[in-house]
Parts: sequence; C-alpha cells; structure tokens
Amino acid sequence: MKKHNFSPGPCILPNEVMLKASEAVLDFNNSGLSLIEMSHRSKEFVDVMEKARSLALELLNLEGKGYKALFLQGGASTQFIMVALNLLEKRAGYLNTGTWSSKAIKEAKIYDDIYEVASSESANFNYIPKGYDIPSDYDYFHCTSNNTIFGTQMKKFPECPIPMVCDMSSDIFSRQLDFSKFDLIYAGAQKNMGPAGTTLVIVKEDILGKVSRKIPSMMDYKIHISKGSMFNTPPVFAVYTSMLTLEWLKNLGGIPVIEEINDKKARIMYSEIDINPLFKGYAVKEDRSMMNATFNLVNDNLKETFDTMLKEAGINGLNGHRSVGGYRASMYNALPIDSVKMLVEVMSELESKA
Ligand SMILES: *Cc1c(COP(=O)(O)O)cnc(C)c1O
Repeated sequence: MKKHNFSPGPCILPNEVMLKASEAVLDFNNSGLSLIEMSHRSKEFVDVMEKARSLALELLNLEGKGYKALFLQGGASTQFIMVALNLLEKRAGYLNTGTWSSKAIKEAKIYDDIYEVASSESANFNYIPKGYDIPSDYDYFHCTSNNTIFGTQMKKFPECPIPMVCDMSSDIFSRQLDFSKFDLIYAGAQKNMGPAGTTLVIVKEDILGKVSRKIPSMMDYKIHISKGSMFNTPPVFAVYTSMLTLEWLKNLGGIPVIEEINDKKARIMYSEIDINPLFKGYAVKEDRSMMNATFNLVNDNLKETFDTMLKEAGINGLNGHRSVGGYRASMYNALPIDSVKMLVEVMSELESKA
C-alpha cells in the first residue's frame, strides 16, 4: 500500500516524476543507455542541465534579470560556508530563526563575527522576529524563509539595503514571492524538488567577485557559472529528477497554482489543530508554515493510541524533530490533499475515542 508520506525530507515527489526517473535509469529517452551510465558531457545530459537551470529561473520569474541557476553538490549545508566565502568581506547580518539559521551562522563565523540582527532562540524558535534593523554597510543579510524543524515561515521579507541571501530549502517553489528581492537563493533539492544530492543555487551575478580572499574552485560561484554548472561531474540523477519535478510544476500551472493547493492543505491541517482540544500548535499563528505544521498532544498519555492509529491509516513521517517533540506534518508540493484529509480524520477520530 502506498503510504501517506509526511516525511520532512527527503520527501514525497510526484508519482509521474518517479515513473519517468525510474524509466530513465533503465533506458534514457530510448538511447539504449541509462541516465546514470552516460557521459555528463553528452548532448543528452547537457540538455537536461540546461533545461533544469532555465526552468528554475522561469518558475521563479527571474529570467533576464541577471540571475544564474546552478545545481551544486554538498547540500544546503555546504551553502552555509559557500555564501560566506563568496560574499563576506567585513561583516554580515543574520536572522536567527532556527536550527538551520544557527548552523549557517556558525559556519559564517569561521570568517567573521557575524551580527545576529534578531533571534527567536529564547522562545525555542516558535516565532519569526520582526521589526529589526539591517545595517546598510554590511556585506549581506541572510535569512531562512521556512524553518523546517520548528514550523515557522517568513510571510514578509524586510526591505533590505544590502544583498539579501535566503535559505529556501523547505519552501522554494511552494508560494509566490517577489524573488527579485533576493540576490542569492539556495535550496537543497530533497525538500521540494528532487532526490538528495543536489542543491539549487540562484545568484545574481553582479554581487559576485567583490571579496578579496582566494576562493577554492569548487566553492566559487563564478567558476560554476562559467562552466554552466558542469565544473565537475554533476549529480546526474538528482539533476534530472529535479528537472522532471520542475516540468511537472510548470505543466500544473506553476507556482500560483501550487500555492493555492498548498494553502488549502495548510488550512485543513491548521483548522483541525485549532479545533481539536487534544492538540496544540507549536508555532505562533501568524508565523505558521504552510509546509511544515508542528503540533503536540496536550495529553501525552494518548501518544501510543494516536501513533497506532496513524500507523493503521498508513500515515508516515509524522514524528516531530527531537528539538521540538510532538508531531510535524510536512506538506510539500507533491503531497496530495487527500493525505492531509486522512491525517485530519485520524485526529478527529482520536478526539471521539478519547
Ligand atoms: C534540510 C535543510 C537544510 C540542510 O540541507 P542539507 O541538504 O541536508 O544540507 C538547510 N536548511 C533548511 C531550511 C533545511 O530545511
């Protein structure tokens, strides 16, 4: 039986993407070769890379605006250090909204005393700080659009007088934003785009080349741009599968259409959390994430019963992160609305039993 997959990442991908990806592993476009055994310099694969790069820019409305898309390796975690290496000369400002922001700060601190413009750490990151100042003489400002672990999401982004860098790993391609407000966006593929193994980086070219340090080649955005994101062997399967997901999204109608669906899923989920007296949401309401809903049982004695019911309903991946506890329903783009309805049904069934 196919499960209702609420996994926080790697996460659910569209079924048709899985089918096409698995066919390509056996025989890529009737070439008689597997996607994963052919040269990455072949025309076939270069076309895949180019298509993936251009689809990413197209979906985000960033074509012709001075941006380049790259599919790199090392996960979003490598971007924590790569951003600092490429952009940090004097000082940068970071918004600390959770585990991933904190990790980004820790890495950047290798190069400088990072300034935290604001932090919600004292409240165990259950909200997004607002109303902070961003010093205009800093090199860049870094934020995390969606806090996968705590279930908070930035609904508004600050007016930023300096380049704005954003870790969008867990909500890229899920909602409409003016993406041209950002100068660098990065996202590990495995949350909303594809399998683990590649990280999408979208960078405005004119912010590069301004630091005085030497940058190792693999860490240098300019080198990856100059080589068409093929400086070394790219993760061909991850890039191809990401391309398929982006194609799927485009055919669906793009971000405006998926945003409506995501909005519906989130509304169903949160209204149950609010209406059901057995549960309590973790994040403050105004900052609730459309992608990851975090909640707890009011009475932990019900945990065993609830967990058994979840299992029987085929609901998978609902355990909260250890730093929050409780439950987390990750509702990425490919999660069908029926999965959310099933979860909500189990929650209200628990209420009628209790
Ligand atoms: C998962 C996640 C990361 C880490 O991604 P890796 O690809 O595992 O390095 C970073 N930031 C956010 C917001 C995430 O959700």
